[in-house]
Amino acid sequence: MIGAGAAGLAAAIFAGEEAARSDERPARIVVLEGANRIGAKILVSGGGRCNVTHERVSADDFAGARNPIRNVLAAFDADATKRWFASLGVALKREETGKLFPVSDSARTVVDALLARCRALGIELHTGARVVALERAPGGSGDDAASGGGDAGAHLGVTYERGGRTHELHVRRVIVTTGGRSLPRTGSDGSGYVLVRALGHTVTDTHPALVPLVLRRGFFHADLRGISHDAELTTLANARRIDRRSGSLLWTHFGVSGPVVLDASRHWVLAHARGDATQLRLSVLPGKTPDDADALLQSLARERPRASLGRVLAGLLPERLADALLHAADVDPATPAAQLARDPRRRLARCLTELVLPVERDRGWDFAEVTAGGVPLAEVDYRTMASRKSAGLLLAGEILDCDGRIGGFNFQWAWATGFLAGRAAVRSLRGMQSSSSLTPR
Ligand SMILES: Cc1cc2nc3c(=O)[nH]c(=O)nc-3n(C[C@H](O)[C@H](O)[C@H](O)COP(=O)(O)OP(=O)(O)OC[C@H]3O[C@@H](n4cnc5c(N)ncnc54)[C@H](O)[C@@H]3O)c2cc1C
Repeated sequence: MIGAGAAGLAAAIFAGEEAARSDERPARIVVLEGANRIGAKILVSGGGRCNVTHERVSADDFAGARNPIRNVLAAFDADATKRWFASLGVALKREETGKLFPVSDSARTVVDALLARCRALGIELHTGARVVALERAPGGSGDDAASGGGDAGAHLGVTYERGGRTHELHVRRVIVTTGGRSLPRTGSDGSGYVLVRALGHTVTDTHPALVPLVLRRGFFHADLRGISHDAELTTLANARRIDRRSGSLLWTHFGVSGPVVLDASRHWVLAHARGDATQLRLSVLPGKTPDDADALLQSLARERPRASLGRVLAGLLPERLADALLHAADVDPATPAAQLARDPRRRLARCLTELVLPVERDRGWDFAEVTAGGVPLAEVDYRTMASRKSAGLLLAGEILDCDGRIGGFNFQWAWATGFLAGRAAVRSLRGMQSSSSLTPR
């Protein structure tokens, strides 16, 4: 395994469990992790609580090639994740939204359980071991990869740096689980793409996803920082609607965040990167059109004719947000509701339902939870995660071109692909002697 994130630890454990079931000489399973600490990303996930999966997971929760995603999820679904965590001694609880967390509310429980199972299975974990090259080693065979990790005789050379020295490891199977580019300080800096390109893979353009969005300076966001509320976001590219979703939005000192923004971000980011004229529209009245909002304002005016518009709207929205929207519509918050003329009322109705957020950019890799793009799923066999480009190579986790929405879906992808790759790597070696060797150079 190269990389001891969620996918790497899952792959190592499932490989170890598969090997333990066999009567043959146990396979030697080595995990090389570039960072000095294992599990940094898991520890910060879900606000430190680690949202390990979701009650209901389907291919619709992901962006990427539908058929392989559906098959991977069918092979290891959310129930399998629940059973697996139970077997690791981690009890899970379901929140109202369907998200599953450890009952301890601590991501540490998850990391500790994964590491304990690795230790019990005799898996070698090397930290501070950064892999710098992957190549077909002498004695390795063909370019063509067969199901389950390629032909049984494949040999691969793994070069890594550790403790100021360069080391080489000769192996029959390598599972690359180096993640994408999100949160590079945890060690996931995109170096895995270079490793697999050297073995014939391609990598699509990559972009930050599940990422907060930065709004133009001077827009009212900074006045609202800390306020969150239900919202609907619509993304348009070249005047065509490409996404609409609702959920909780959080105003911040730089712009907007919160689940609905994070989920919408990949659509804005990718369309913007393509050079499309991109627009993000906010509705603070989810599900309502400008005409609905106009009718609502008229009925509120009939109910409370003398109340100021500021007070009337504060009955529906956080007060500071109501004020900001009234100002955006050029309406004085002190205006009595019944005195709002037709034109300003229609302006206000549009500000309530179709306010254009002046997005300048996404907040970048340091704040993105996941990577959009990666190694195309067509380049792996989705039954085993074996590379179709290089014998002996398998891939799992975020390095692949698949990203999920907020809610535990990205970890589900990591566990499921780790399960398939770990199990297949060992199964494809059956009948062979383990021949890995660690040789400092
Ligand atoms: C702040 C934050 C919160 C998140 N919260 C959630 C959540 O609650 N639920 C959810 O489902 N998802 C969440 N995610 C997304 C989820 O964490 C990732 O999708 C998932 O961890 C990906 O797992 P991975 O193993 O593929 O990659 P990673 O977790 O990125 O692990 C890759 C590992 O490979 C190592 N590595 C990289 N290159 C090399 C190299 N050349 N040599 C050796 N080692 C290398 C890295 O150091 C790293 O440890 C969150 C992400 C972030 C950033």
